[in-house]
Amino acid sequence: MLTGLSVPEASERILADIHRLPAERVPLRKALGRVLATDVASPISLPPWDNASMDGYAVRAVDVAGARSDAPVTLSVVGTIAAGGSPDLHLGAGEAIRIMTGAPVPAGADSVVRIEDTDGGTERVAVRSSRDSRRNVRPRGEDLSAGSTAVAAGTEVGAAQLGVLASAGAIEVDVFRRPRVAILSSGDELVDVDRYDEVIAGRRIVASNSYTLWALVHRAGAEPIDLGIVPDDRVALRRRIEEGLALADLVLTSGGVSVGAFDFTREVVSALGAELRFWRVRMRPGAPIGFGLLGDVPWIGLPGNPVSAMVTFELFARPALRRMAGHHRLFRRPILVRLGEDVTLAAPLMHFLRAIVASTDAGTPPLARLTGPQGSGLLTSMERANALVVIPEDRPRIQAGETLRALMLTDESGLAVEIGL
Ligand code: AMP
Ligand code: MG
Repeated sequence: MLTGLSVPEASERILADIHRLPAERVPLRKALGRVLATDVASPISLPPWDNASMDGYAVRAVDVAGARSDAPVTLSVVGTIAAGGSPDLHLGAGEAIRIMTGAPVPAGADSVVRIEDTDGGTERVAVRSSRDSRRNVRPRGEDLSAGSTAVAAGTEVGAAQLGVLASAGAIEVDVFRRPRVAILSSGDELVDVDRYDEVIAGRRIVASNSYTLWALVHRAGAEPIDLGIVPDDRVALRRRIEEGLALADLVLTSGGVSVGAFDFTREVVSALGAELRFWRVRMRPGAPIGFGLLGDVPWIGLPGNPVSAMVTFELFARPALRRMAGHHRLFRRPILVRLGEDVTLAAPLMHFLRAIVASTDAGTPPLARLTGPQGSGLLTSMERANALVVIPEDRPRIQAGETLRALMLTDESGLAVEIGL
């Protein structure tokens, strides 16, 4: 019998209980990757003055109207304005002022003749073309007018936003707080790499989830707090989860959430007062997933199997962390892919197959090749993958060449030609 929620149902249940964290003020560069909490207006017009978009000569269009290479117009050069120079000069009839890109265009000028169309003179200049009449002047306020919103609340701060905010004088900005995430591995069989001798002796395995989840939390823009490994012991588990609650905005456990005799996580979380919202999802890898609220701190109990932990993090924890951090786009970008081989699935569950998506001919969806056997303990299947191919619950058999959706785990492309270069 199939029990549990569908993947979208589980996702909705979790997100219904996840709220944005409060804002904090940070120095501008610290805002990178975060979401702006308040509109930032520009106190000034940008650019702040009419300025030259070419190196050349500020002139009046009427003066150069007839200029041709075989009939140049000669003007007297009455000054030079560098970028950062004074806008106080005034241009009169028959005059030119040497001007550099970005420099304020003097009053009286309406055009900047590029230097290539002149003889480059410093006392007098011969202008050989009229093609720049009324051109090459970037008007004041063309980018932003004084008082207008430079970057709106809710925007993720990337490179361009940082630049615009700096131009608007924002030394500090309000962004939503980065979620702090307590990460906890549970299982008697687990050790950290510093006890690798016990792994070599065949008694223990490395708690690789402590590393994968730390990285996923970090990459999701949140702050991981590694609470290490807890044995399968109710008291120890309870203490460690309480520790996490005191430190974090979300508690992420892995392991011990299934139906084994030593799977205590759900029991302990319930004893701590959590209402267990659900604990099974109709998916593979990753069926056992718990979710509940401990007071106002959400707990997501990921399965122990290394691939299951990563895939369920992608589907449920990452969107939750993004919502806490104020993002509006919570999910990985889906693309259409062609499956590279026949696939038969053993159970009517939504499957997330690890695949390498590589671009092929333009016009057809890229090919997705599975990274090999798909067991939920085979972490190398994930290590080689750049995408998760999504197989709907009702598709027991897929043929090579069929089009499916995939979630891209990376955004880079291998070849310049793939982006049309
Ligand atoms: P569990 O969910 O506790 O039943 O664990 C399922 C499988 O995942 C078992 O093979 C565990 O040894 C393994 N496992 C559990 N936690 C971790 C972890 N933190 N790192 C690596 N493997 C784990
Ligand atoms: Mg276990």
